[in-house]
Amino acid sequence: MSRFFSSRYQNLTPYTPGEQPKVLDLIKLNTNESPFPPSPMAIRRAAEAAESLQLYSDPECTDLVARAAQVFGVEPEEILFTNGSDEILNFAFMAFCDENTPAVFPDITYGFYKVFAALNNIPYEEIPLREDFSVCVEDYLGINKTIFIANPNAPTGIALPLSEIERIVASNPNHVVVVDEAYVDFGGESALSLIHKYDNLLVTQTFSKSRSLAGGRLGFGAGSKALIRDLNTIKYSTNPYNVNRMTMAAGLGALEDAAYFAENCQVIRENREWTAKSLQEMGFIMPDSKTNFLFVKHPDLDGGALYRQLKERRILVRHFDTPKLKDYNRITIGTKEQMKALVAAIGEILQESPL
Ligand code: PMP
Repeated sequence: MSRFFSSRYQNLTPYTPGEQPKVLDLIKLNTNESPFPPSPMAIRRAAEAAESLQLYSDPECTDLVARAAQVFGVEPEEILFTNGSDEILNFAFMAFCDENTPAVFPDITYGFYKVFAALNNIPYEEIPLREDFSVCVEDYLGINKTIFIANPNAPTGIALPLSEIERIVASNPNHVVVVDEAYVDFGGESALSLIHKYDNLLVTQTFSKSRSLAGGRLGFGAGSKALIRDLNTIKYSTNPYNVNRMTMAAGLGALEDAAYFAENCQVIRENREWTAKSLQEMGFIMPDSKTNFLFVKHPDLDGGALYRQLKERRILVRHFDTPKLKDYNRITIGTKEQMKALVAAIGEILQESPL
């Protein structure tokens, strides 16, 4: 830390992203990316957009917003695109929380929430999940705080039904409920249809997973026009050109190629079911995942040891070294070939080194 670093941030613990190895000769199942390249339409549009990179990007993302409004069944004024959904989540912490309006979220969830809270000097409360990692909806009813809830949740993969999300939103009418739907396309129920019914609901989604654009950085929030205006106030006070031209174009291409998106989501769901079954046959335990990852533990294997032994075999998964999560590994669902290699490697590890 330099002697110039603001005292505001001296105690800030930044988010630790998953490893992004420089070498490509490994099976990368650690950050929930898509194993499939972006749609050819996304690639073509991004390449065309590269020819105008001397110009700033459209701060209103006009074409992308128009298309997305159609696809997601909202008005253009009800949607705001950002540099990944991380950015809209940060904007939501900035816009809808303060010293008197704390944030709440589950104790086991997306690790960035508490970093955003700390960054913005917002008090926060973590509500423990149940023993089986499910969210206890009653804990969130009428609590009058700004709620952040990932649905499906990460890293557990468990989804709440839409009716339960609606109970939470309806019971906190004077506070914003942010539903982070980063993984919704792999089997969850989206709350987007509820934004016209509840003016306190903000739904966020990302193009990083189901639309294969993690490296492009594109996410969005959808909510009432008033909520989106507030978020725009934050955006135009930080970086009006937050979505670059190539990404904006790629996002449009991705939305145009609905068939490619649907096919990829379907393949991931099939590969997930195959992998879950294969691992269960080997004795693994896991919650029911509605995402593009599995959260697994084995009664005879130490979580950290499994992570390291897979890494030795050039397979990278995600291990969280915290007391409640250390027995588990989070494994991104890749291609069938990658999943077969994973299952084979784990079979070998189990044979060689039962702990
Ligand atoms: N929410 C959740 C639950 C996530 O796991 C992630 C991905 N790490 C994000 C939001 C942010 O994704 P992105 O910024 O790539 O849109």
